[in-house]
Amino acid sequence: MDLQHWLGRATEAIQEWADGYGPYRPHPSLHVDDDRFAAAFQEFTGRLGDNYPFFHPHYAGQMLKPPHPAAVVGYLTAMLINPNNHALDGGPATARMEREVVARLATMFGYDTHLGHLTTSGTIANLEALFIARELHPGQGIAYSADAHYTHGRMCRVLGMKGYPVPTDDRGRMSLDALEDILRGGEVGTVVLTAGTTGLGAVDPVDQALALRERHGVRLHVDAAYGGFFTLLAGAEGPEGIPAGPWRAIAECDSVVIDPHKHGLQPYGCGAVLFRDPGVGRFYLHDSPYTYFTSSELHLGEISLECSRAGASAAALWLTFQLLPPTPAGLGQVLAAGRRAALRWSDLITSSNFLELYQRPELDIVSYFPLVEPTTLSAIDTASADVLRAGMDSDDPVFLSTLKADRTAFSARHPKVTADADADGDGARILRSVLMKPESEDHVEHLHARVEELVRAR
Ligand SMILES: *Cc1c(COP(=O)(O)O)cnc(C)c1O
Repeated sequence: MDLQHWLGRATEAIQEWADGYGPYRPHPSLHVDDDRFAAAFQEFTGRLGDNYPFFHPHYAGQMLKPPHPAAVVGYLTAMLINPNNHALDGGPATARMEREVVARLATMFGYDTHLGHLTTSGTIANLEALFIARELHPGQGIAYSADAHYTHGRMCRVLGMKGYPVPTDDRGRMSLDALEDILRGGEVGTVVLTAGTTGLGAVDPVDQALALRERHGVRLHVDAAYGGFFTLLAGAEGPEGIPAGPWRAIAECDSVVIDPHKHGLQPYGCGAVLFRDPGVGRFYLHDSPYTYFTSSELHLGEISLECSRAGASAAALWLTFQLLPPTPAGLGQVLAAGRRAALRWSDLITSSNFLELYQRPELDIVSYFPLVEPTTLSAIDTASADVLRAGMDSDDPVFLSTLKADRTAFSARHPKVTADADADGDGARILRSVLMKPESEDHVEHLHARVEELVRAR
């Protein structure tokens, strides 16, 4: 699709709609003439040049990429109206689109009933899930893996709940034995399972955790902010397929969070929370003199902790799903390419004389480190930081990211590496590449060769 053409059509379509309401004179206080705008715009676009090329296949660092053109057109077109999905009266069309996209996400996870809505982010979506957890299990705490997103600990403090970090195994997954030890204490009301950790893409054993709910009467919440769309590859044939168990088990869990602004091709400002039991809506009830609910239908603002939310976010996701639906044949193909790229790069690293794989990727995050002499944590830490910097500063740049691996985690995977005393803090930085652009698949050989060169050149 031709983005320029459709951005032009977006302004025309909204103008045609606006023209139906008759002419009016824009207020002179808002007037900006073209010359002044041109000057400001030039400075503005100049300043935006100070960015990393997230769009380019040679950017293989953090979880960043531009939205799909369909999402851009959907967002900008709706933004010209600027509906607020707080209430149906704030944006009837986009509120309906929000319901539809949330229903599609619920179907993807296999929920047969649901209550859910979009949020501004995964953090707020998880906050909502933990808030409901607190209302249902007052006085009890939340358990999450030591590798869970850092915001779980923070949100426990916000909610006045006690957080219980649970140790992980040698693949970065929550240890269920350690979890059960904590649950026996009777102080935990809800367990957060991460389906795709932000650091390594590790998938907690959601399926095996179901039995713990029976034994200990806890709620299960799944944080699939990053990994959620990998559900589309669960049990798939071919190299990109991933074990189905944990993903199918999400259907049995009490709530789940997913970030369409990570793997759903959306601009920032798009997370989602879904509850399996629609009855939890009662905890959100509020009454306010400002809200202007005119129908008896449930308004999205009645089931969300946030008030104003961009209708444009729902519009962008809706338009994207019309073209790339959350199905194995739709969006699934986008994730499959990144997954194959991660496996291919891992194979290249495994047979390299200059790099070593930190662990085999479960999803599309590759973790690795330079092979250095002496083989110590502090030498690996320095070398990883050097390669990161040299990659960005090069004439033929590659953009990676680093991840801090703690001493215990490192030793569990690589017992031969000496955990020396000067290691920075308690562990070593390693290299990490999130291959979330399908184009990565065609560039893995190049990325690998460049990173090997950077290690050799040290
Ligand atoms: C990114 C992420 C979050 C936080 O989501 P934001 O949208 O960045 O607020 C929470 N959990 C996991 C597993 C994540 O990857």
